[in-house]
Amino acid sequence: MRLTPHDRDWFRVLAVILMAAAMVLSVGAAIYLGRSTASNIRLELSERSQTIAAALTEENIAKLSGTEADGDTTAYTRLKEQLASVKSANPDTRSIYLMGRHHGQLFFFVDSEQPNSHDYSTPGEDYNDGTPADSAIFDNAKPLVEGPVTDEYGTFISGLAPIKDPSNGAVAAVLGIDVASSTYYRSIAYAAAVPLLTGLSFTLILQVFENIRRRNAQLLTLRSELVSVASHELRNPITGIRWAADSVEKLNTNEKLRPMIHAIKNSAEGLQASTDDILELSHAMNRRSLTVAPADMSQLMQEVFGMQLLSAQRRGVSLRFDSSWPHVLMIPCDADQMKRVLHNVISNAIKYTGDNTVVTVAYKEDDKMHHLLVVDQGIGIPASEQAKVFKGFYRASNAVASRVPGTGLGLFLVKAVLEQHGGNVTFVSAEGKGTTFDLSLPKRG
Ligand code: ADP
Repeated sequence: MRLTPHDRDWFRVLAVILMAAAMVLSVGAAIYLGRSTASNIRLELSERSQTIAAALTEENIAKLSGTEADGDTTAYTRLKEQLASVKSANPDTRSIYLMGRHHGQLFFFVDSEQPNSHDYSTPGEDYNDGTPADSAIFDNAKPLVEGPVTDEYGTFISGLAPIKDPSNGAVAAVLGIDVASSTYYRSIAYAAAVPLLTGLSFTLILQVFENIRRRNAQLLTLRSELVSVASHELRNPITGIRWAADSVEKLNTNEKLRPMIHAIKNSAEGLQASTDDILELSHAMNRRSLTVAPADMSQLMQEVFGMQLLSAQRRGVSLRFDSSWPHVLMIPCDADQMKRVLHNVISNAIKYTGDNTVVTVAYKEDDKMHHLLVVDQGIGIPASEQAKVFKGFYRASNAVASRVPGTGLGLFLVKAVLEQHGGNVTFVSAEGKGTTFDLSLPKRG
């Protein structure tokens, strides 16, 4: 498929919209996944603290007084062993502790730490970093996850679970478990990174495609400008050569020079035809839009027949309308472009046919398309080469052998113009018998 400049603008707009959408979606997904990972971790920590709290022996807690004297009691030692073994089974924890509250002041009953640890607290030691929310657990008996908070030992999040006194239902202690926040942040970062990286990669890939496409578009424009300028510049010298050859032919009396003068004229004409074709092609390819309006195809065909009459008569070729061809045939199209299309196909039919044959134009239609058929009784196109004739600069071997001049650009132009209209060109051909070209145009324009 060939992109028109108009398509290219749309492609750029589409690429920008897609990139923006990808970024918005990936940022949205990153925020959502980050948040849900955070709340999952918090939930898991809360459940962990409640499980540990439930595993502790309430009678031992009830035996503690919340003073330094607890250190010598079996209940304290037993609880410390329990907390230490839970800590070793949970390697991400910094410390596990039991808090109490006395006259509004929070203090430590016991913790998982050995006396040489930074986090060790003596039994009954005040917990001065405790927050009002920590204290409130003694009143509302609701588990809590706090943090991440930073203190002199690092940043961590805490899961806090109440432990009730079975005799009166009051909160006798609160179990706390501090977990290093690095795991928490890392999990959130990983969860958010996946959509962010996906969005970024998608945007980058689109950007790369867009850059390649833009570079190609620039190269195409440059190439067609070059072709256009070059063909324009060639026209004058070619006209000069033709004029000079004509003049020499008229003045020439030497019979031996005649074939050479003919050769010069033929070559100059061939060159002229090539530059005209190339120029026409570059104009057609650069056109941003078609000027579509209903045009009478019968009239256009009459005009094209008129332009081709001389060359047809020279070959003894009759140009005919089949009875299927309507008197008036209005089709929405760019009339100038369609005239070029018809001109190319009819001139080919005349060029590539035998003397005294007939070229007929016929019409048929289906639900969606008009079909203009151009039927000749000419040399045909060899089956093995039929796929190549629309590719540009390709001439079938029998056309080359027949020494009929041509550039191989006409059908390429025909196809491009019809496709721009939403139509198409196809053909059926039998070598030595003839060819029927089918030019289709949409009914809705
Ligand atoms: P050219 O300038 O060579 O005519 P075109 O692009 O118009 O270029 O056609 C490409 C090739 O297709 C021709 O060179 C010829 O081999 C083949 N061709 C096109 N039209 C016909 C036809 N009506 N009959 C036989 N061959 C044809």
